[in-house]
Amino acid sequence: MPQSADKILDHAPLFREPEYKDMLARKAEFENMPPVEQVTQIADWTKSWDYREKNFARESLSVNPAKACQPLGAVFVASGFERTMSFVHGSQGCVAYYRSHLSRHFKEPSSAVSSSMTEDAAVFGGLNNMVDGLANTYKLYSPKMIAVSTTCMAEVIGDDLNAFIATAKEKESVPADFDVPFAHTPAFVGSHVTGYDNMLKGILDHFWKGKEAKPNGSLNIIPGFDGFAVGNNRELKRVLDLMGVDYTILSDVSDQFDTPSDGEFRMYDGGTPIEATKNAVNASATLSLQEYCTPKTLDYAASFGQKTKSLHYPIGVGGTDDLLSSISELTGKPVPEALELERGRLVDAMADSQSWLHGKTYAIYGDPDFVYGMARFVLETGGEPKHCLATNGSKAWEAQMQALFDSSTFGAGCKAWGGRDLWHMRSLLATEEVDLLIGNSYGKYLERDTKTPLIRLMFPIFDRHHHHRFPVWGYQGGLRVLVTILDKIFDCLDQDTMDPGVTDYSFDLTR
Ligand code: SF4
Repeated sequence: MPQSADKILDHAPLFREPEYKDMLARKAEFENMPPVEQVTQIADWTKSWDYREKNFARESLSVNPAKACQPLGAVFVASGFERTMSFVHGSQGCVAYYRSHLSRHFKEPSSAVSSSMTEDAAVFGGLNNMVDGLANTYKLYSPKMIAVSTTCMAEVIGDDLNAFIATAKEKESVPADFDVPFAHTPAFVGSHVTGYDNMLKGILDHFWKGKEAKPNGSLNIIPGFDGFAVGNNRELKRVLDLMGVDYTILSDVSDQFDTPSDGEFRMYDGGTPIEATKNAVNASATLSLQEYCTPKTLDYAASFGQKTKSLHYPIGVGGTDDLLSSISELTGKPVPEALELERGRLVDAMADSQSWLHGKTYAIYGDPDFVYGMARFVLETGGEPKHCLATNGSKAWEAQMQALFDSSTFGAGCKAWGGRDLWHMRSLLATEEVDLLIGNSYGKYLERDTKTPLIRLMFPIFDRHHHHRFPVWGYQGGLRVLVTILDKIFDCLDQDTMDPGVTDYSFDLTR
């Protein structure tokens, strides 16, 4: 065998060795595959306009939806509070999925527990699982707060979290005054952004309910579900500190998903302090950086007399302008000169590279606010975001996107697709080609299939490391996004001009 202790091969080169090639070829005997020509013929047909029309007519089936289920968002947002353990009432496998998704993206351990409901709980209800599970979580993991959400299973049988948690406290699973906020997060409705909203509202409701707000001029900021939260939240804090704003970030996961290696395992790190979360009821305003992550939470904050406002993922010049002007409007603090200089530097960089960016066409997919913010930045660079797709995007989101396209000459011919999936995106890329695809790691199969170069800027990113440590928000983040796009353009150009004297006509050291 080619594998040996002296020379350990990774699976990619290993499976190209003759022994494995032969084994894989023989495996086909048992797969009962049709002839290769027939497979190729059908695959080609699925890239035609004829198939596209059939594909877009489908109603009852999702293929590779670009979204996750509600509890993932609930687990994510709960991770951003001080010493908080997520407790997901339902099946164990679901929780393994949330933990692995977050760990694979952030390259960090991700802690969450499950009430491990099985067949008996599905028939008789999961009360006993809740009673035992809360007691174990409290004793084993020493949290300051346990945030409870639900999987499909608990929702289908109608388990009542409020009653269950009250019963568990009566049975002394946790002390009566221990903080156990909860949110029902039915996975068959909405997506992870809905779960984020439900869980955040549940946590605030736990601490704010019955309180009388005494406005103190401070600002609550909600980042929303964000794969770049480590870099983005730190950038956000830098900007807020530069502006001299008194603020509370409601759910700050930046330390939890970026713990240092120094010999100490931190199950919990950083997060919004519990006391700050309680006091956040007295903020004068709450600003959400992702509208579709916070509709219920913002309504709830408004019910305490707070001013509220929401943005769409502040990428690029206009997105950051909106962020800073909103902070300024809600707090009365001016935008400092240092940030104006950063703006000028981003605009300068965009102008320097204009000849390479102008007229480039894009397909963008991901969460509704990300797609909006990204498309807006693409328009600012003179690019055309032709296909914009959000599986968890609504008709209202499509209308917002259309208004964005209409605001720019580069938006003509661009279209937003709400409620569509990555199999729809494949049809779009095959029938109306674009220069670049912006999405997450799952886009690599679209890249291979349609030869559209992929730029990874959306959660989850499993097959590249550490992108989340650098911000994409603000003017500094805009520079990073700009460089990421330009690197892909230049890499593609270099790949396309590899052959000296044939495709490479000049000494192309300088672009
Ligand atoms: S969709 Fe339902 S079954 Fe699947 S991971 Fe989410 S909660 Fe679990």
